[in-house]
Amino acid sequence: MADEKDQHPATVAARALGAVDAATGAIIPPIHMATTLQRDANYEKPGGRQYIRDEGHAFLQPEAVLAALEGGADALLFSAGMGACTAAFHALAPGDHVVAPDVMYYGLARWLEEFGAHWGLEVDFVPAGDLDALAAAVRPGRTRLVWTETPANPTWTVTDIAAAAEIAHRAGALLGVDSTAATPVHTRPIALGADLVAHSATKYLNGHSDVLAGALVTARDDAVWQRIRRHRYLNGMLPGSVEAWLLLRGMRTLFVRVRQASASAQAIAAHFAGHPAVERVLYPGLADHPGHAVARRQMQDGFGAMLSLCVHGNAEDAIRVAQGCRIFITATSLGGVESLIEHRHSVEPPGNATPANLLRLSVGIEETADLIADLEQALAVLRR
Ligand SMILES: *Cc1c(COP(=O)(O)O)cnc(C)c1O
Repeated sequence: MADEKDQHPATVAARALGAVDAATGAIIPPIHMATTLQRDANYEKPGGRQYIRDEGHAFLQPEAVLAALEGGADALLFSAGMGACTAAFHALAPGDHVVAPDVMYYGLARWLEEFGAHWGLEVDFVPAGDLDALAAAVRPGRTRLVWTETPANPTWTVTDIAAAAEIAHRAGALLGVDSTAATPVHTRPIALGADLVAHSATKYLNGHSDVLAGALVTARDDAVWQRIRRHRYLNGMLPGSVEAWLLLRGMRTLFVRVRQASASAQAIAAHFAGHPAVERVLYPGLADHPGHAVARRQMQDGFGAMLSLCVHGNAEDAIRVAQGCRIFITATSLGGVESLIEHRHSVEPPGNATPANLLRLSVGIEETADLIADLEQALAVLRR
């Protein structure tokens, strides 16, 4: 396994760490459907494992691949991205203080308000990407976890991971980064100082809009990590074996999918910046995006495949544009090979901060020119 350290992560992903099934020589691992494992001749647990919820023998290979891609000490799969994100908070104790950004995955923000706070966490939301606000919000000795998401949905606000890690660590807190949108292709948060990295594996890691799963990766196998592991075991937060296998398969093509989709997103952003029907394009790869300078430092190989277009018009106009698309599918979620378009403002509850004229695009791997042409013809409805 030593030589994997010298391989580019794209190679590690494509080979899925190269394990060959010892029993058959099969170059693709079998789907382990068994929930329980036979004791060996000494009545010992094989590999220290006995039951699927305990150590998840069916998940070992995808977890090892993801830990390698993120440069982490260990990884755990969860039944959903939400299970992975909330596990990091469940490892804390009532009374602990946490800081989270005001622009972040909608479901996790709601969980923090409806369950985290209720259950005794003291939660402060700070403006996303604002390091001064973060430094003012952390309480040395009291703050246990600083959460960030970068680029953050749906404005693709960028947070400087290295600087946020320094602020968190100075206060004695851990830094958790939701890296779903960045993927290990563009950002390796642990190398920048993050302690925990979360993924909705439902999105880019699987990449085909057919698996619900989540993952956490840790910088160190320490007491916090062991508590997260216990949480997953005792709360039963694991995916199914088929999902784990599909995820391993999906991760093999992570780099080609994400590089292609991100290159398309950059081309789409450049094409529609200054377009007469578009008021503003929000994409960290554009020089006028507030997070561009930081994104250039901490992202490689592109700026991700998520962007938002604010059209000239109101919510109805934006929805008309979405409905006029023929290639972009009007659906929520992101990270699949097919391009999606969504009007976030009408998905979130009344009074939300998302601009009414904003359309969120998840760019897939279709031909770039077809995607641009599709948006051009859909935007033409605004001129009628
Ligand atoms: C989708 C998503 C989640 C939640 O993941 P699920 O797999 O839907 O539970 C968390 N964070 C981000 C950034 C997401 O896009």
